[in-house]
Amino acid sequence: MSMFEEKNQPLTPISELGEFGLIELIKKQIKLSNPTTVDGIGDDAAQFNHKGENSLITTDMLIEGVHFDLSYTPLKHLGYKAVSVNVSDIYAMNGTPSQITVSMALSNRFPVEAVDELYEGIMLACERYGVDLVGGDTTSSRVGLVLSITAIGSAKAEDVVKRSGAKPTDLLVLTGDIGGAYLGLQVLEREKAVFKENPNLQPDLAQYPYILERQLKPEARKDIIPLLKELDLKPTSMIDVSDGLSSELIHICKSSGVGCRVYEDKIPLDPETIKVCEEFNVDSTTMAINGGEDYELLFTIPLADFDKIKGNPHFTPIGHITEEAEGMVLQTRDGTSAELTAKGWDSFLKKEK
Ligand code: ADP
Ligand code: MG
Repeated sequence: MSMFEEKNQPLTPISELGEFGLIELIKKQIKLSNPTTVDGIGDDAAQFNHKGENSLITTDMLIEGVHFDLSYTPLKHLGYKAVSVNVSDIYAMNGTPSQITVSMALSNRFPVEAVDELYEGIMLACERYGVDLVGGDTTSSRVGLVLSITAIGSAKAEDVVKRSGAKPTDLLVLTGDIGGAYLGLQVLEREKAVFKENPNLQPDLAQYPYILERQLKPEARKDIIPLLKELDLKPTSMIDVSDGLSSELIHICKSSGVGCRVYEDKIPLDPETIKVCEEFNVDSTTMAINGGEDYELLFTIPLADFDKIKGNPHFTPIGHITEEAEGMVLQTRDGTSAELTAKGWDSFLKKEK
């Protein structure tokens, strides 16, 4: 049962519509608006035309019980998030997303109304990111909901930014702030446990608007791509923060054959994130570095371009790239150094030799 379940709604079993009836219903919600879409739903394949640009394609699968928990995730938010996490990967290439496909497997626990709600979130995200839903697949599942979204986008060949271009002395720059999404998840898990004990207690969520939104309805950084253009700034490497800052730094460093030095006191945290860390008695840096699901962008720029981002509230320089032999290092507030790892706090705290 969901913590937010509304009772007494009349529900329609999907078997009443059948697979094709359901697709027809989905189709009704869809209108095409991206100029690169030639043809969407209704044929054996969709068509698009990126007019001389490189095509980008990325896909992500979300599985109930592994990636999301429907006892505290409204389906509309899930739909929105599933699109956000995919277009975020296109932005991380310095590209523009233009189409998505949505494939889903549903168990008979899900009525037509649930699919409607899921697609409401998907369509809201499509509007927000300017992408068209051009196809998908629908099938049944024995175990719950599986959602797989593919995002398609494009960029001029010379604009594409990969993970592999970082050079020693480059600045490491992060958009927004991090750690909030992971703490939002901790609050939801805590309230779920309370609700399990006593279903009559209303979950206490009002104090955490920011971190809950970061967890349940994350925004991909659509605004950053045109901003970089406007600033005449092409990052040397870029990645989106999905698995946690530490893990993303390691990806950039390994792909580029470099090391890095990140300063703990520069890592941007929202005041609400800090407050909740105190409440849970956990270290905010650990949460920020290992948490994940922030969907901010992490990129590197030549030191000479520092003036282009200086003072810009969207960007925080958090460190710089070093020679590979210097390793991947977090310089802590007390002046000591720790080696960055993609795992938990324990191994993360290994002291530098
Ligand atoms: P095919 O048998 O050719 O694979 P389908 O019957 O599976 O076609 O799908 C018919 C059309 O509906 C296709 O254009 C497909 O992309 C689209 N479609 C199917 N399922 C979904 C879905 N869950 N969301 C959006 N479009 C879908
Ligand atoms: Mg099909």
